[in-house]
Amino acid sequence: MMTVRTTCPYCGVGCGVKATPMAHGAIIEGDPDHMANRGRLCVKGAALGETLDLDGRLLAPAIRDEQGLREAGWDEALAKVASTFAAIVAEHGPDAVALYVSGQLLTEDYYVANKFMKGFIGSANIDTNSRLCMSSSVAGHKRAFGEDLVPGCYEDFELADLIVLVGSNAAWCHPTLFQRIAKARELRPHLRIVAIDPRRTATCESADLHLPIKPGTDVWLFNGLLAYLAHSGAVDSAFIDAHTNGLEAALEAAGECASIEFVARHCGIDPRLLVEFYELFAASDKVVTAFSQGVNQSTSGTDKVNAIINCHLVTGRIGKPGMGPFSLTGQPNAMGGREVGGLANMLAAHLELDQPAHRELVRTFWDAPRIAARPGLKAVEMFRAIEEGGIKAVWIMATNPVASLPDADQVRRALARCELVVVSDMSAATDTAAHAHVLLPALGWGEKDGTVTNSERCISRQRAFLDAPGQARADWWALCQVARRMGFHGFDYRDAHAIFGEHARLSAWRNDETGVPRAFRIDGLAGLSRAGYDGLAPIQWPVGAAGEGSARLFTDGRYAHADGKARFVATVPRAPANPADRAYPIVLNTGRLRDQWHTMTRTGKSPRLANHAPEPCVDLHPHDALLAGVREGELARVSSRWGAMVARVSHGGGIARGSAFIPIHWTGQNASDARVGAVVNPAVDPVSGEPEFKHTPVRIEPF
Ligand code: SF4
Repeated sequence: MMTVRTTCPYCGVGCGVKATPMAHGAIIEGDPDHMANRGRLCVKGAALGETLDLDGRLLAPAIRDEQGLREAGWDEALAKVASTFAAIVAEHGPDAVALYVSGQLLTEDYYVANKFMKGFIGSANIDTNSRLCMSSSVAGHKRAFGEDLVPGCYEDFELADLIVLVGSNAAWCHPTLFQRIAKARELRPHLRIVAIDPRRTATCESADLHLPIKPGTDVWLFNGLLAYLAHSGAVDSAFIDAHTNGLEAALEAAGECASIEFVARHCGIDPRLLVEFYELFAASDKVVTAFSQGVNQSTSGTDKVNAIINCHLVTGRIGKPGMGPFSLTGQPNAMGGREVGGLANMLAAHLELDQPAHRELVRTFWDAPRIAARPGLKAVEMFRAIEEGGIKAVWIMATNPVASLPDADQVRRALARCELVVVSDMSAATDTAAHAHVLLPALGWGEKDGTVTNSERCISRQRAFLDAPGQARADWWALCQVARRMGFHGFDYRDAHAIFGEHARLSAWRNDETGVPRAFRIDGLAGLSRAGYDGLAPIQWPVGAAGEGSARLFTDGRYAHADGKARFVATVPRAPANPADRAYPIVLNTGRLRDQWHTMTRTGKSPRLANHAPEPCVDLHPHDALLAGVREGELARVSSRWGAMVARVSHGGGIARGSAFIPIHWTGQNASDARVGAVVNPAVDPVSGEPEFKHTPVRIEPF
């Protein structure tokens, strides 16, 4: 059997995988030649071969009519989608339809989805589950750097003297990167790790210093650090003068945080821990500050990102080996989606929807009849508009919002009253598929072909090594078929290579023909032959005309703002949107477990992965459990003002009094309805629209 080099479909580390198909499943190994993992795999990646059977797969299109769901041919299903979308657009306008897509899509799928909606339907009502994951980082990058840019690379973690992990349980959620950090610490014992997290996670256990701050207080902490650095003289004045703007306003916003006692009180930690962290940061030249969902999933998420970036700008620790702020993305292709404009407020090739010149540029390149005139609705807003009747048809691809969005019962109500719900998925029975009027079978990992981009801007190929099962087809193909049936031109791609070529040519054309330069460019990949695309080795963008990649950005001190300078952002600390109170006294935090991925449609098939945590648990401090009248091992009802679920009580350790933690993986398809999304509050960051998954007031009661 031939071994195929491909990329893991799970987290944003984007590990290279060697897959050798067998009669049942495949032999899976880490790819020693992939720059992201150099042969390493975590337990999820290593178990990929156990997840390739066809149990539970959606293998044929289906249409729901008065009698229920019935199998249909592709022709009938596609015609129904196209004719209904066309009729709704004709009667109610382009904003009456929407796409809700996913960081699980390949870049090529994402590109076609955006072209279809923004250029041909003429609406930007296309958003993605990446909104739930890293949209605060996108917004923070754009404010600081002028574009959504991750400055550094994984190698910086190995070169750093200090790694600060903020709101990131990297040991569980980005495991092979954490293995690289552990190895670097063996080789360079002076490397220090600081973990900032309300919970004492596996990552915190390995850290030299753990700051168990109160949930949502990161801006106080990093404003305090900015003030400390400024007052102690640990700043790079030459860098600030030459390459930045806005320090004065940022320092003014951080003013009250100049008091260690004030910050320690707000963050709920011992002032001595705070001073130890600040001194370590000031004294370490090579610092990487990596942040993940604990930062992003907050109503202050964008400010948290900028408060962190401010501390790197003030010390000039950016654009050089071993230093920089670093967004650890959650999903396998969250970055690729951003490259093609996968969010409702973005355009392809890192262009901006709110700039008329950018809109016209993309419209011209696509030879599109129109272009969305304004940003579309972000994920939470989109499902509200569906419930209110403003959006009448939605096409959901590769995601399960009835389980994963906050206030998930609202999403269920919205879909129940939507005129047309189209669901493209590889699984037949999901909480969202239960509401579908049309179900379209999608290819899964190992079957589909295209590219993904990981957290360090590395574009990697996902290659097919299995035959397409049943009638499953690529998502880009289904989109093109609907577009063509709606009379749109420019959707006759033969394969993923043709789509990637167009995506890369847009990057080249934008820079060379129109003079609209952006840091995102992959010009050097625009002329890839089919064989070149098939054999494409992992490469980090920007990719210049000669085809060379780039490990780091801003090495020349130039940023993407018009004046070439980075911006300090004045970040004023704000408490989470919904505080705990007497009725709902516990703050619920949600997140991933080590051995599961999203709603377990794939990882749930592996018995060894299931062993880690066989059922949904609510992790509580023993004191809070006592007050609630529940004991470890018993079932408890967890309720908020938005919904309720049942989970088994655990005392996993590391949880502070007044807090609870529930993993995100279980759904309404399990024996009991265990969707934690139904409990989570729908408050969002006012800049990024990212929901506050890390802070919902709840009540715990015996079940
Ligand atoms: Fe896959 Fe992430 Fe594990 Fe790598 S670290 S094998 S990308 S889940």
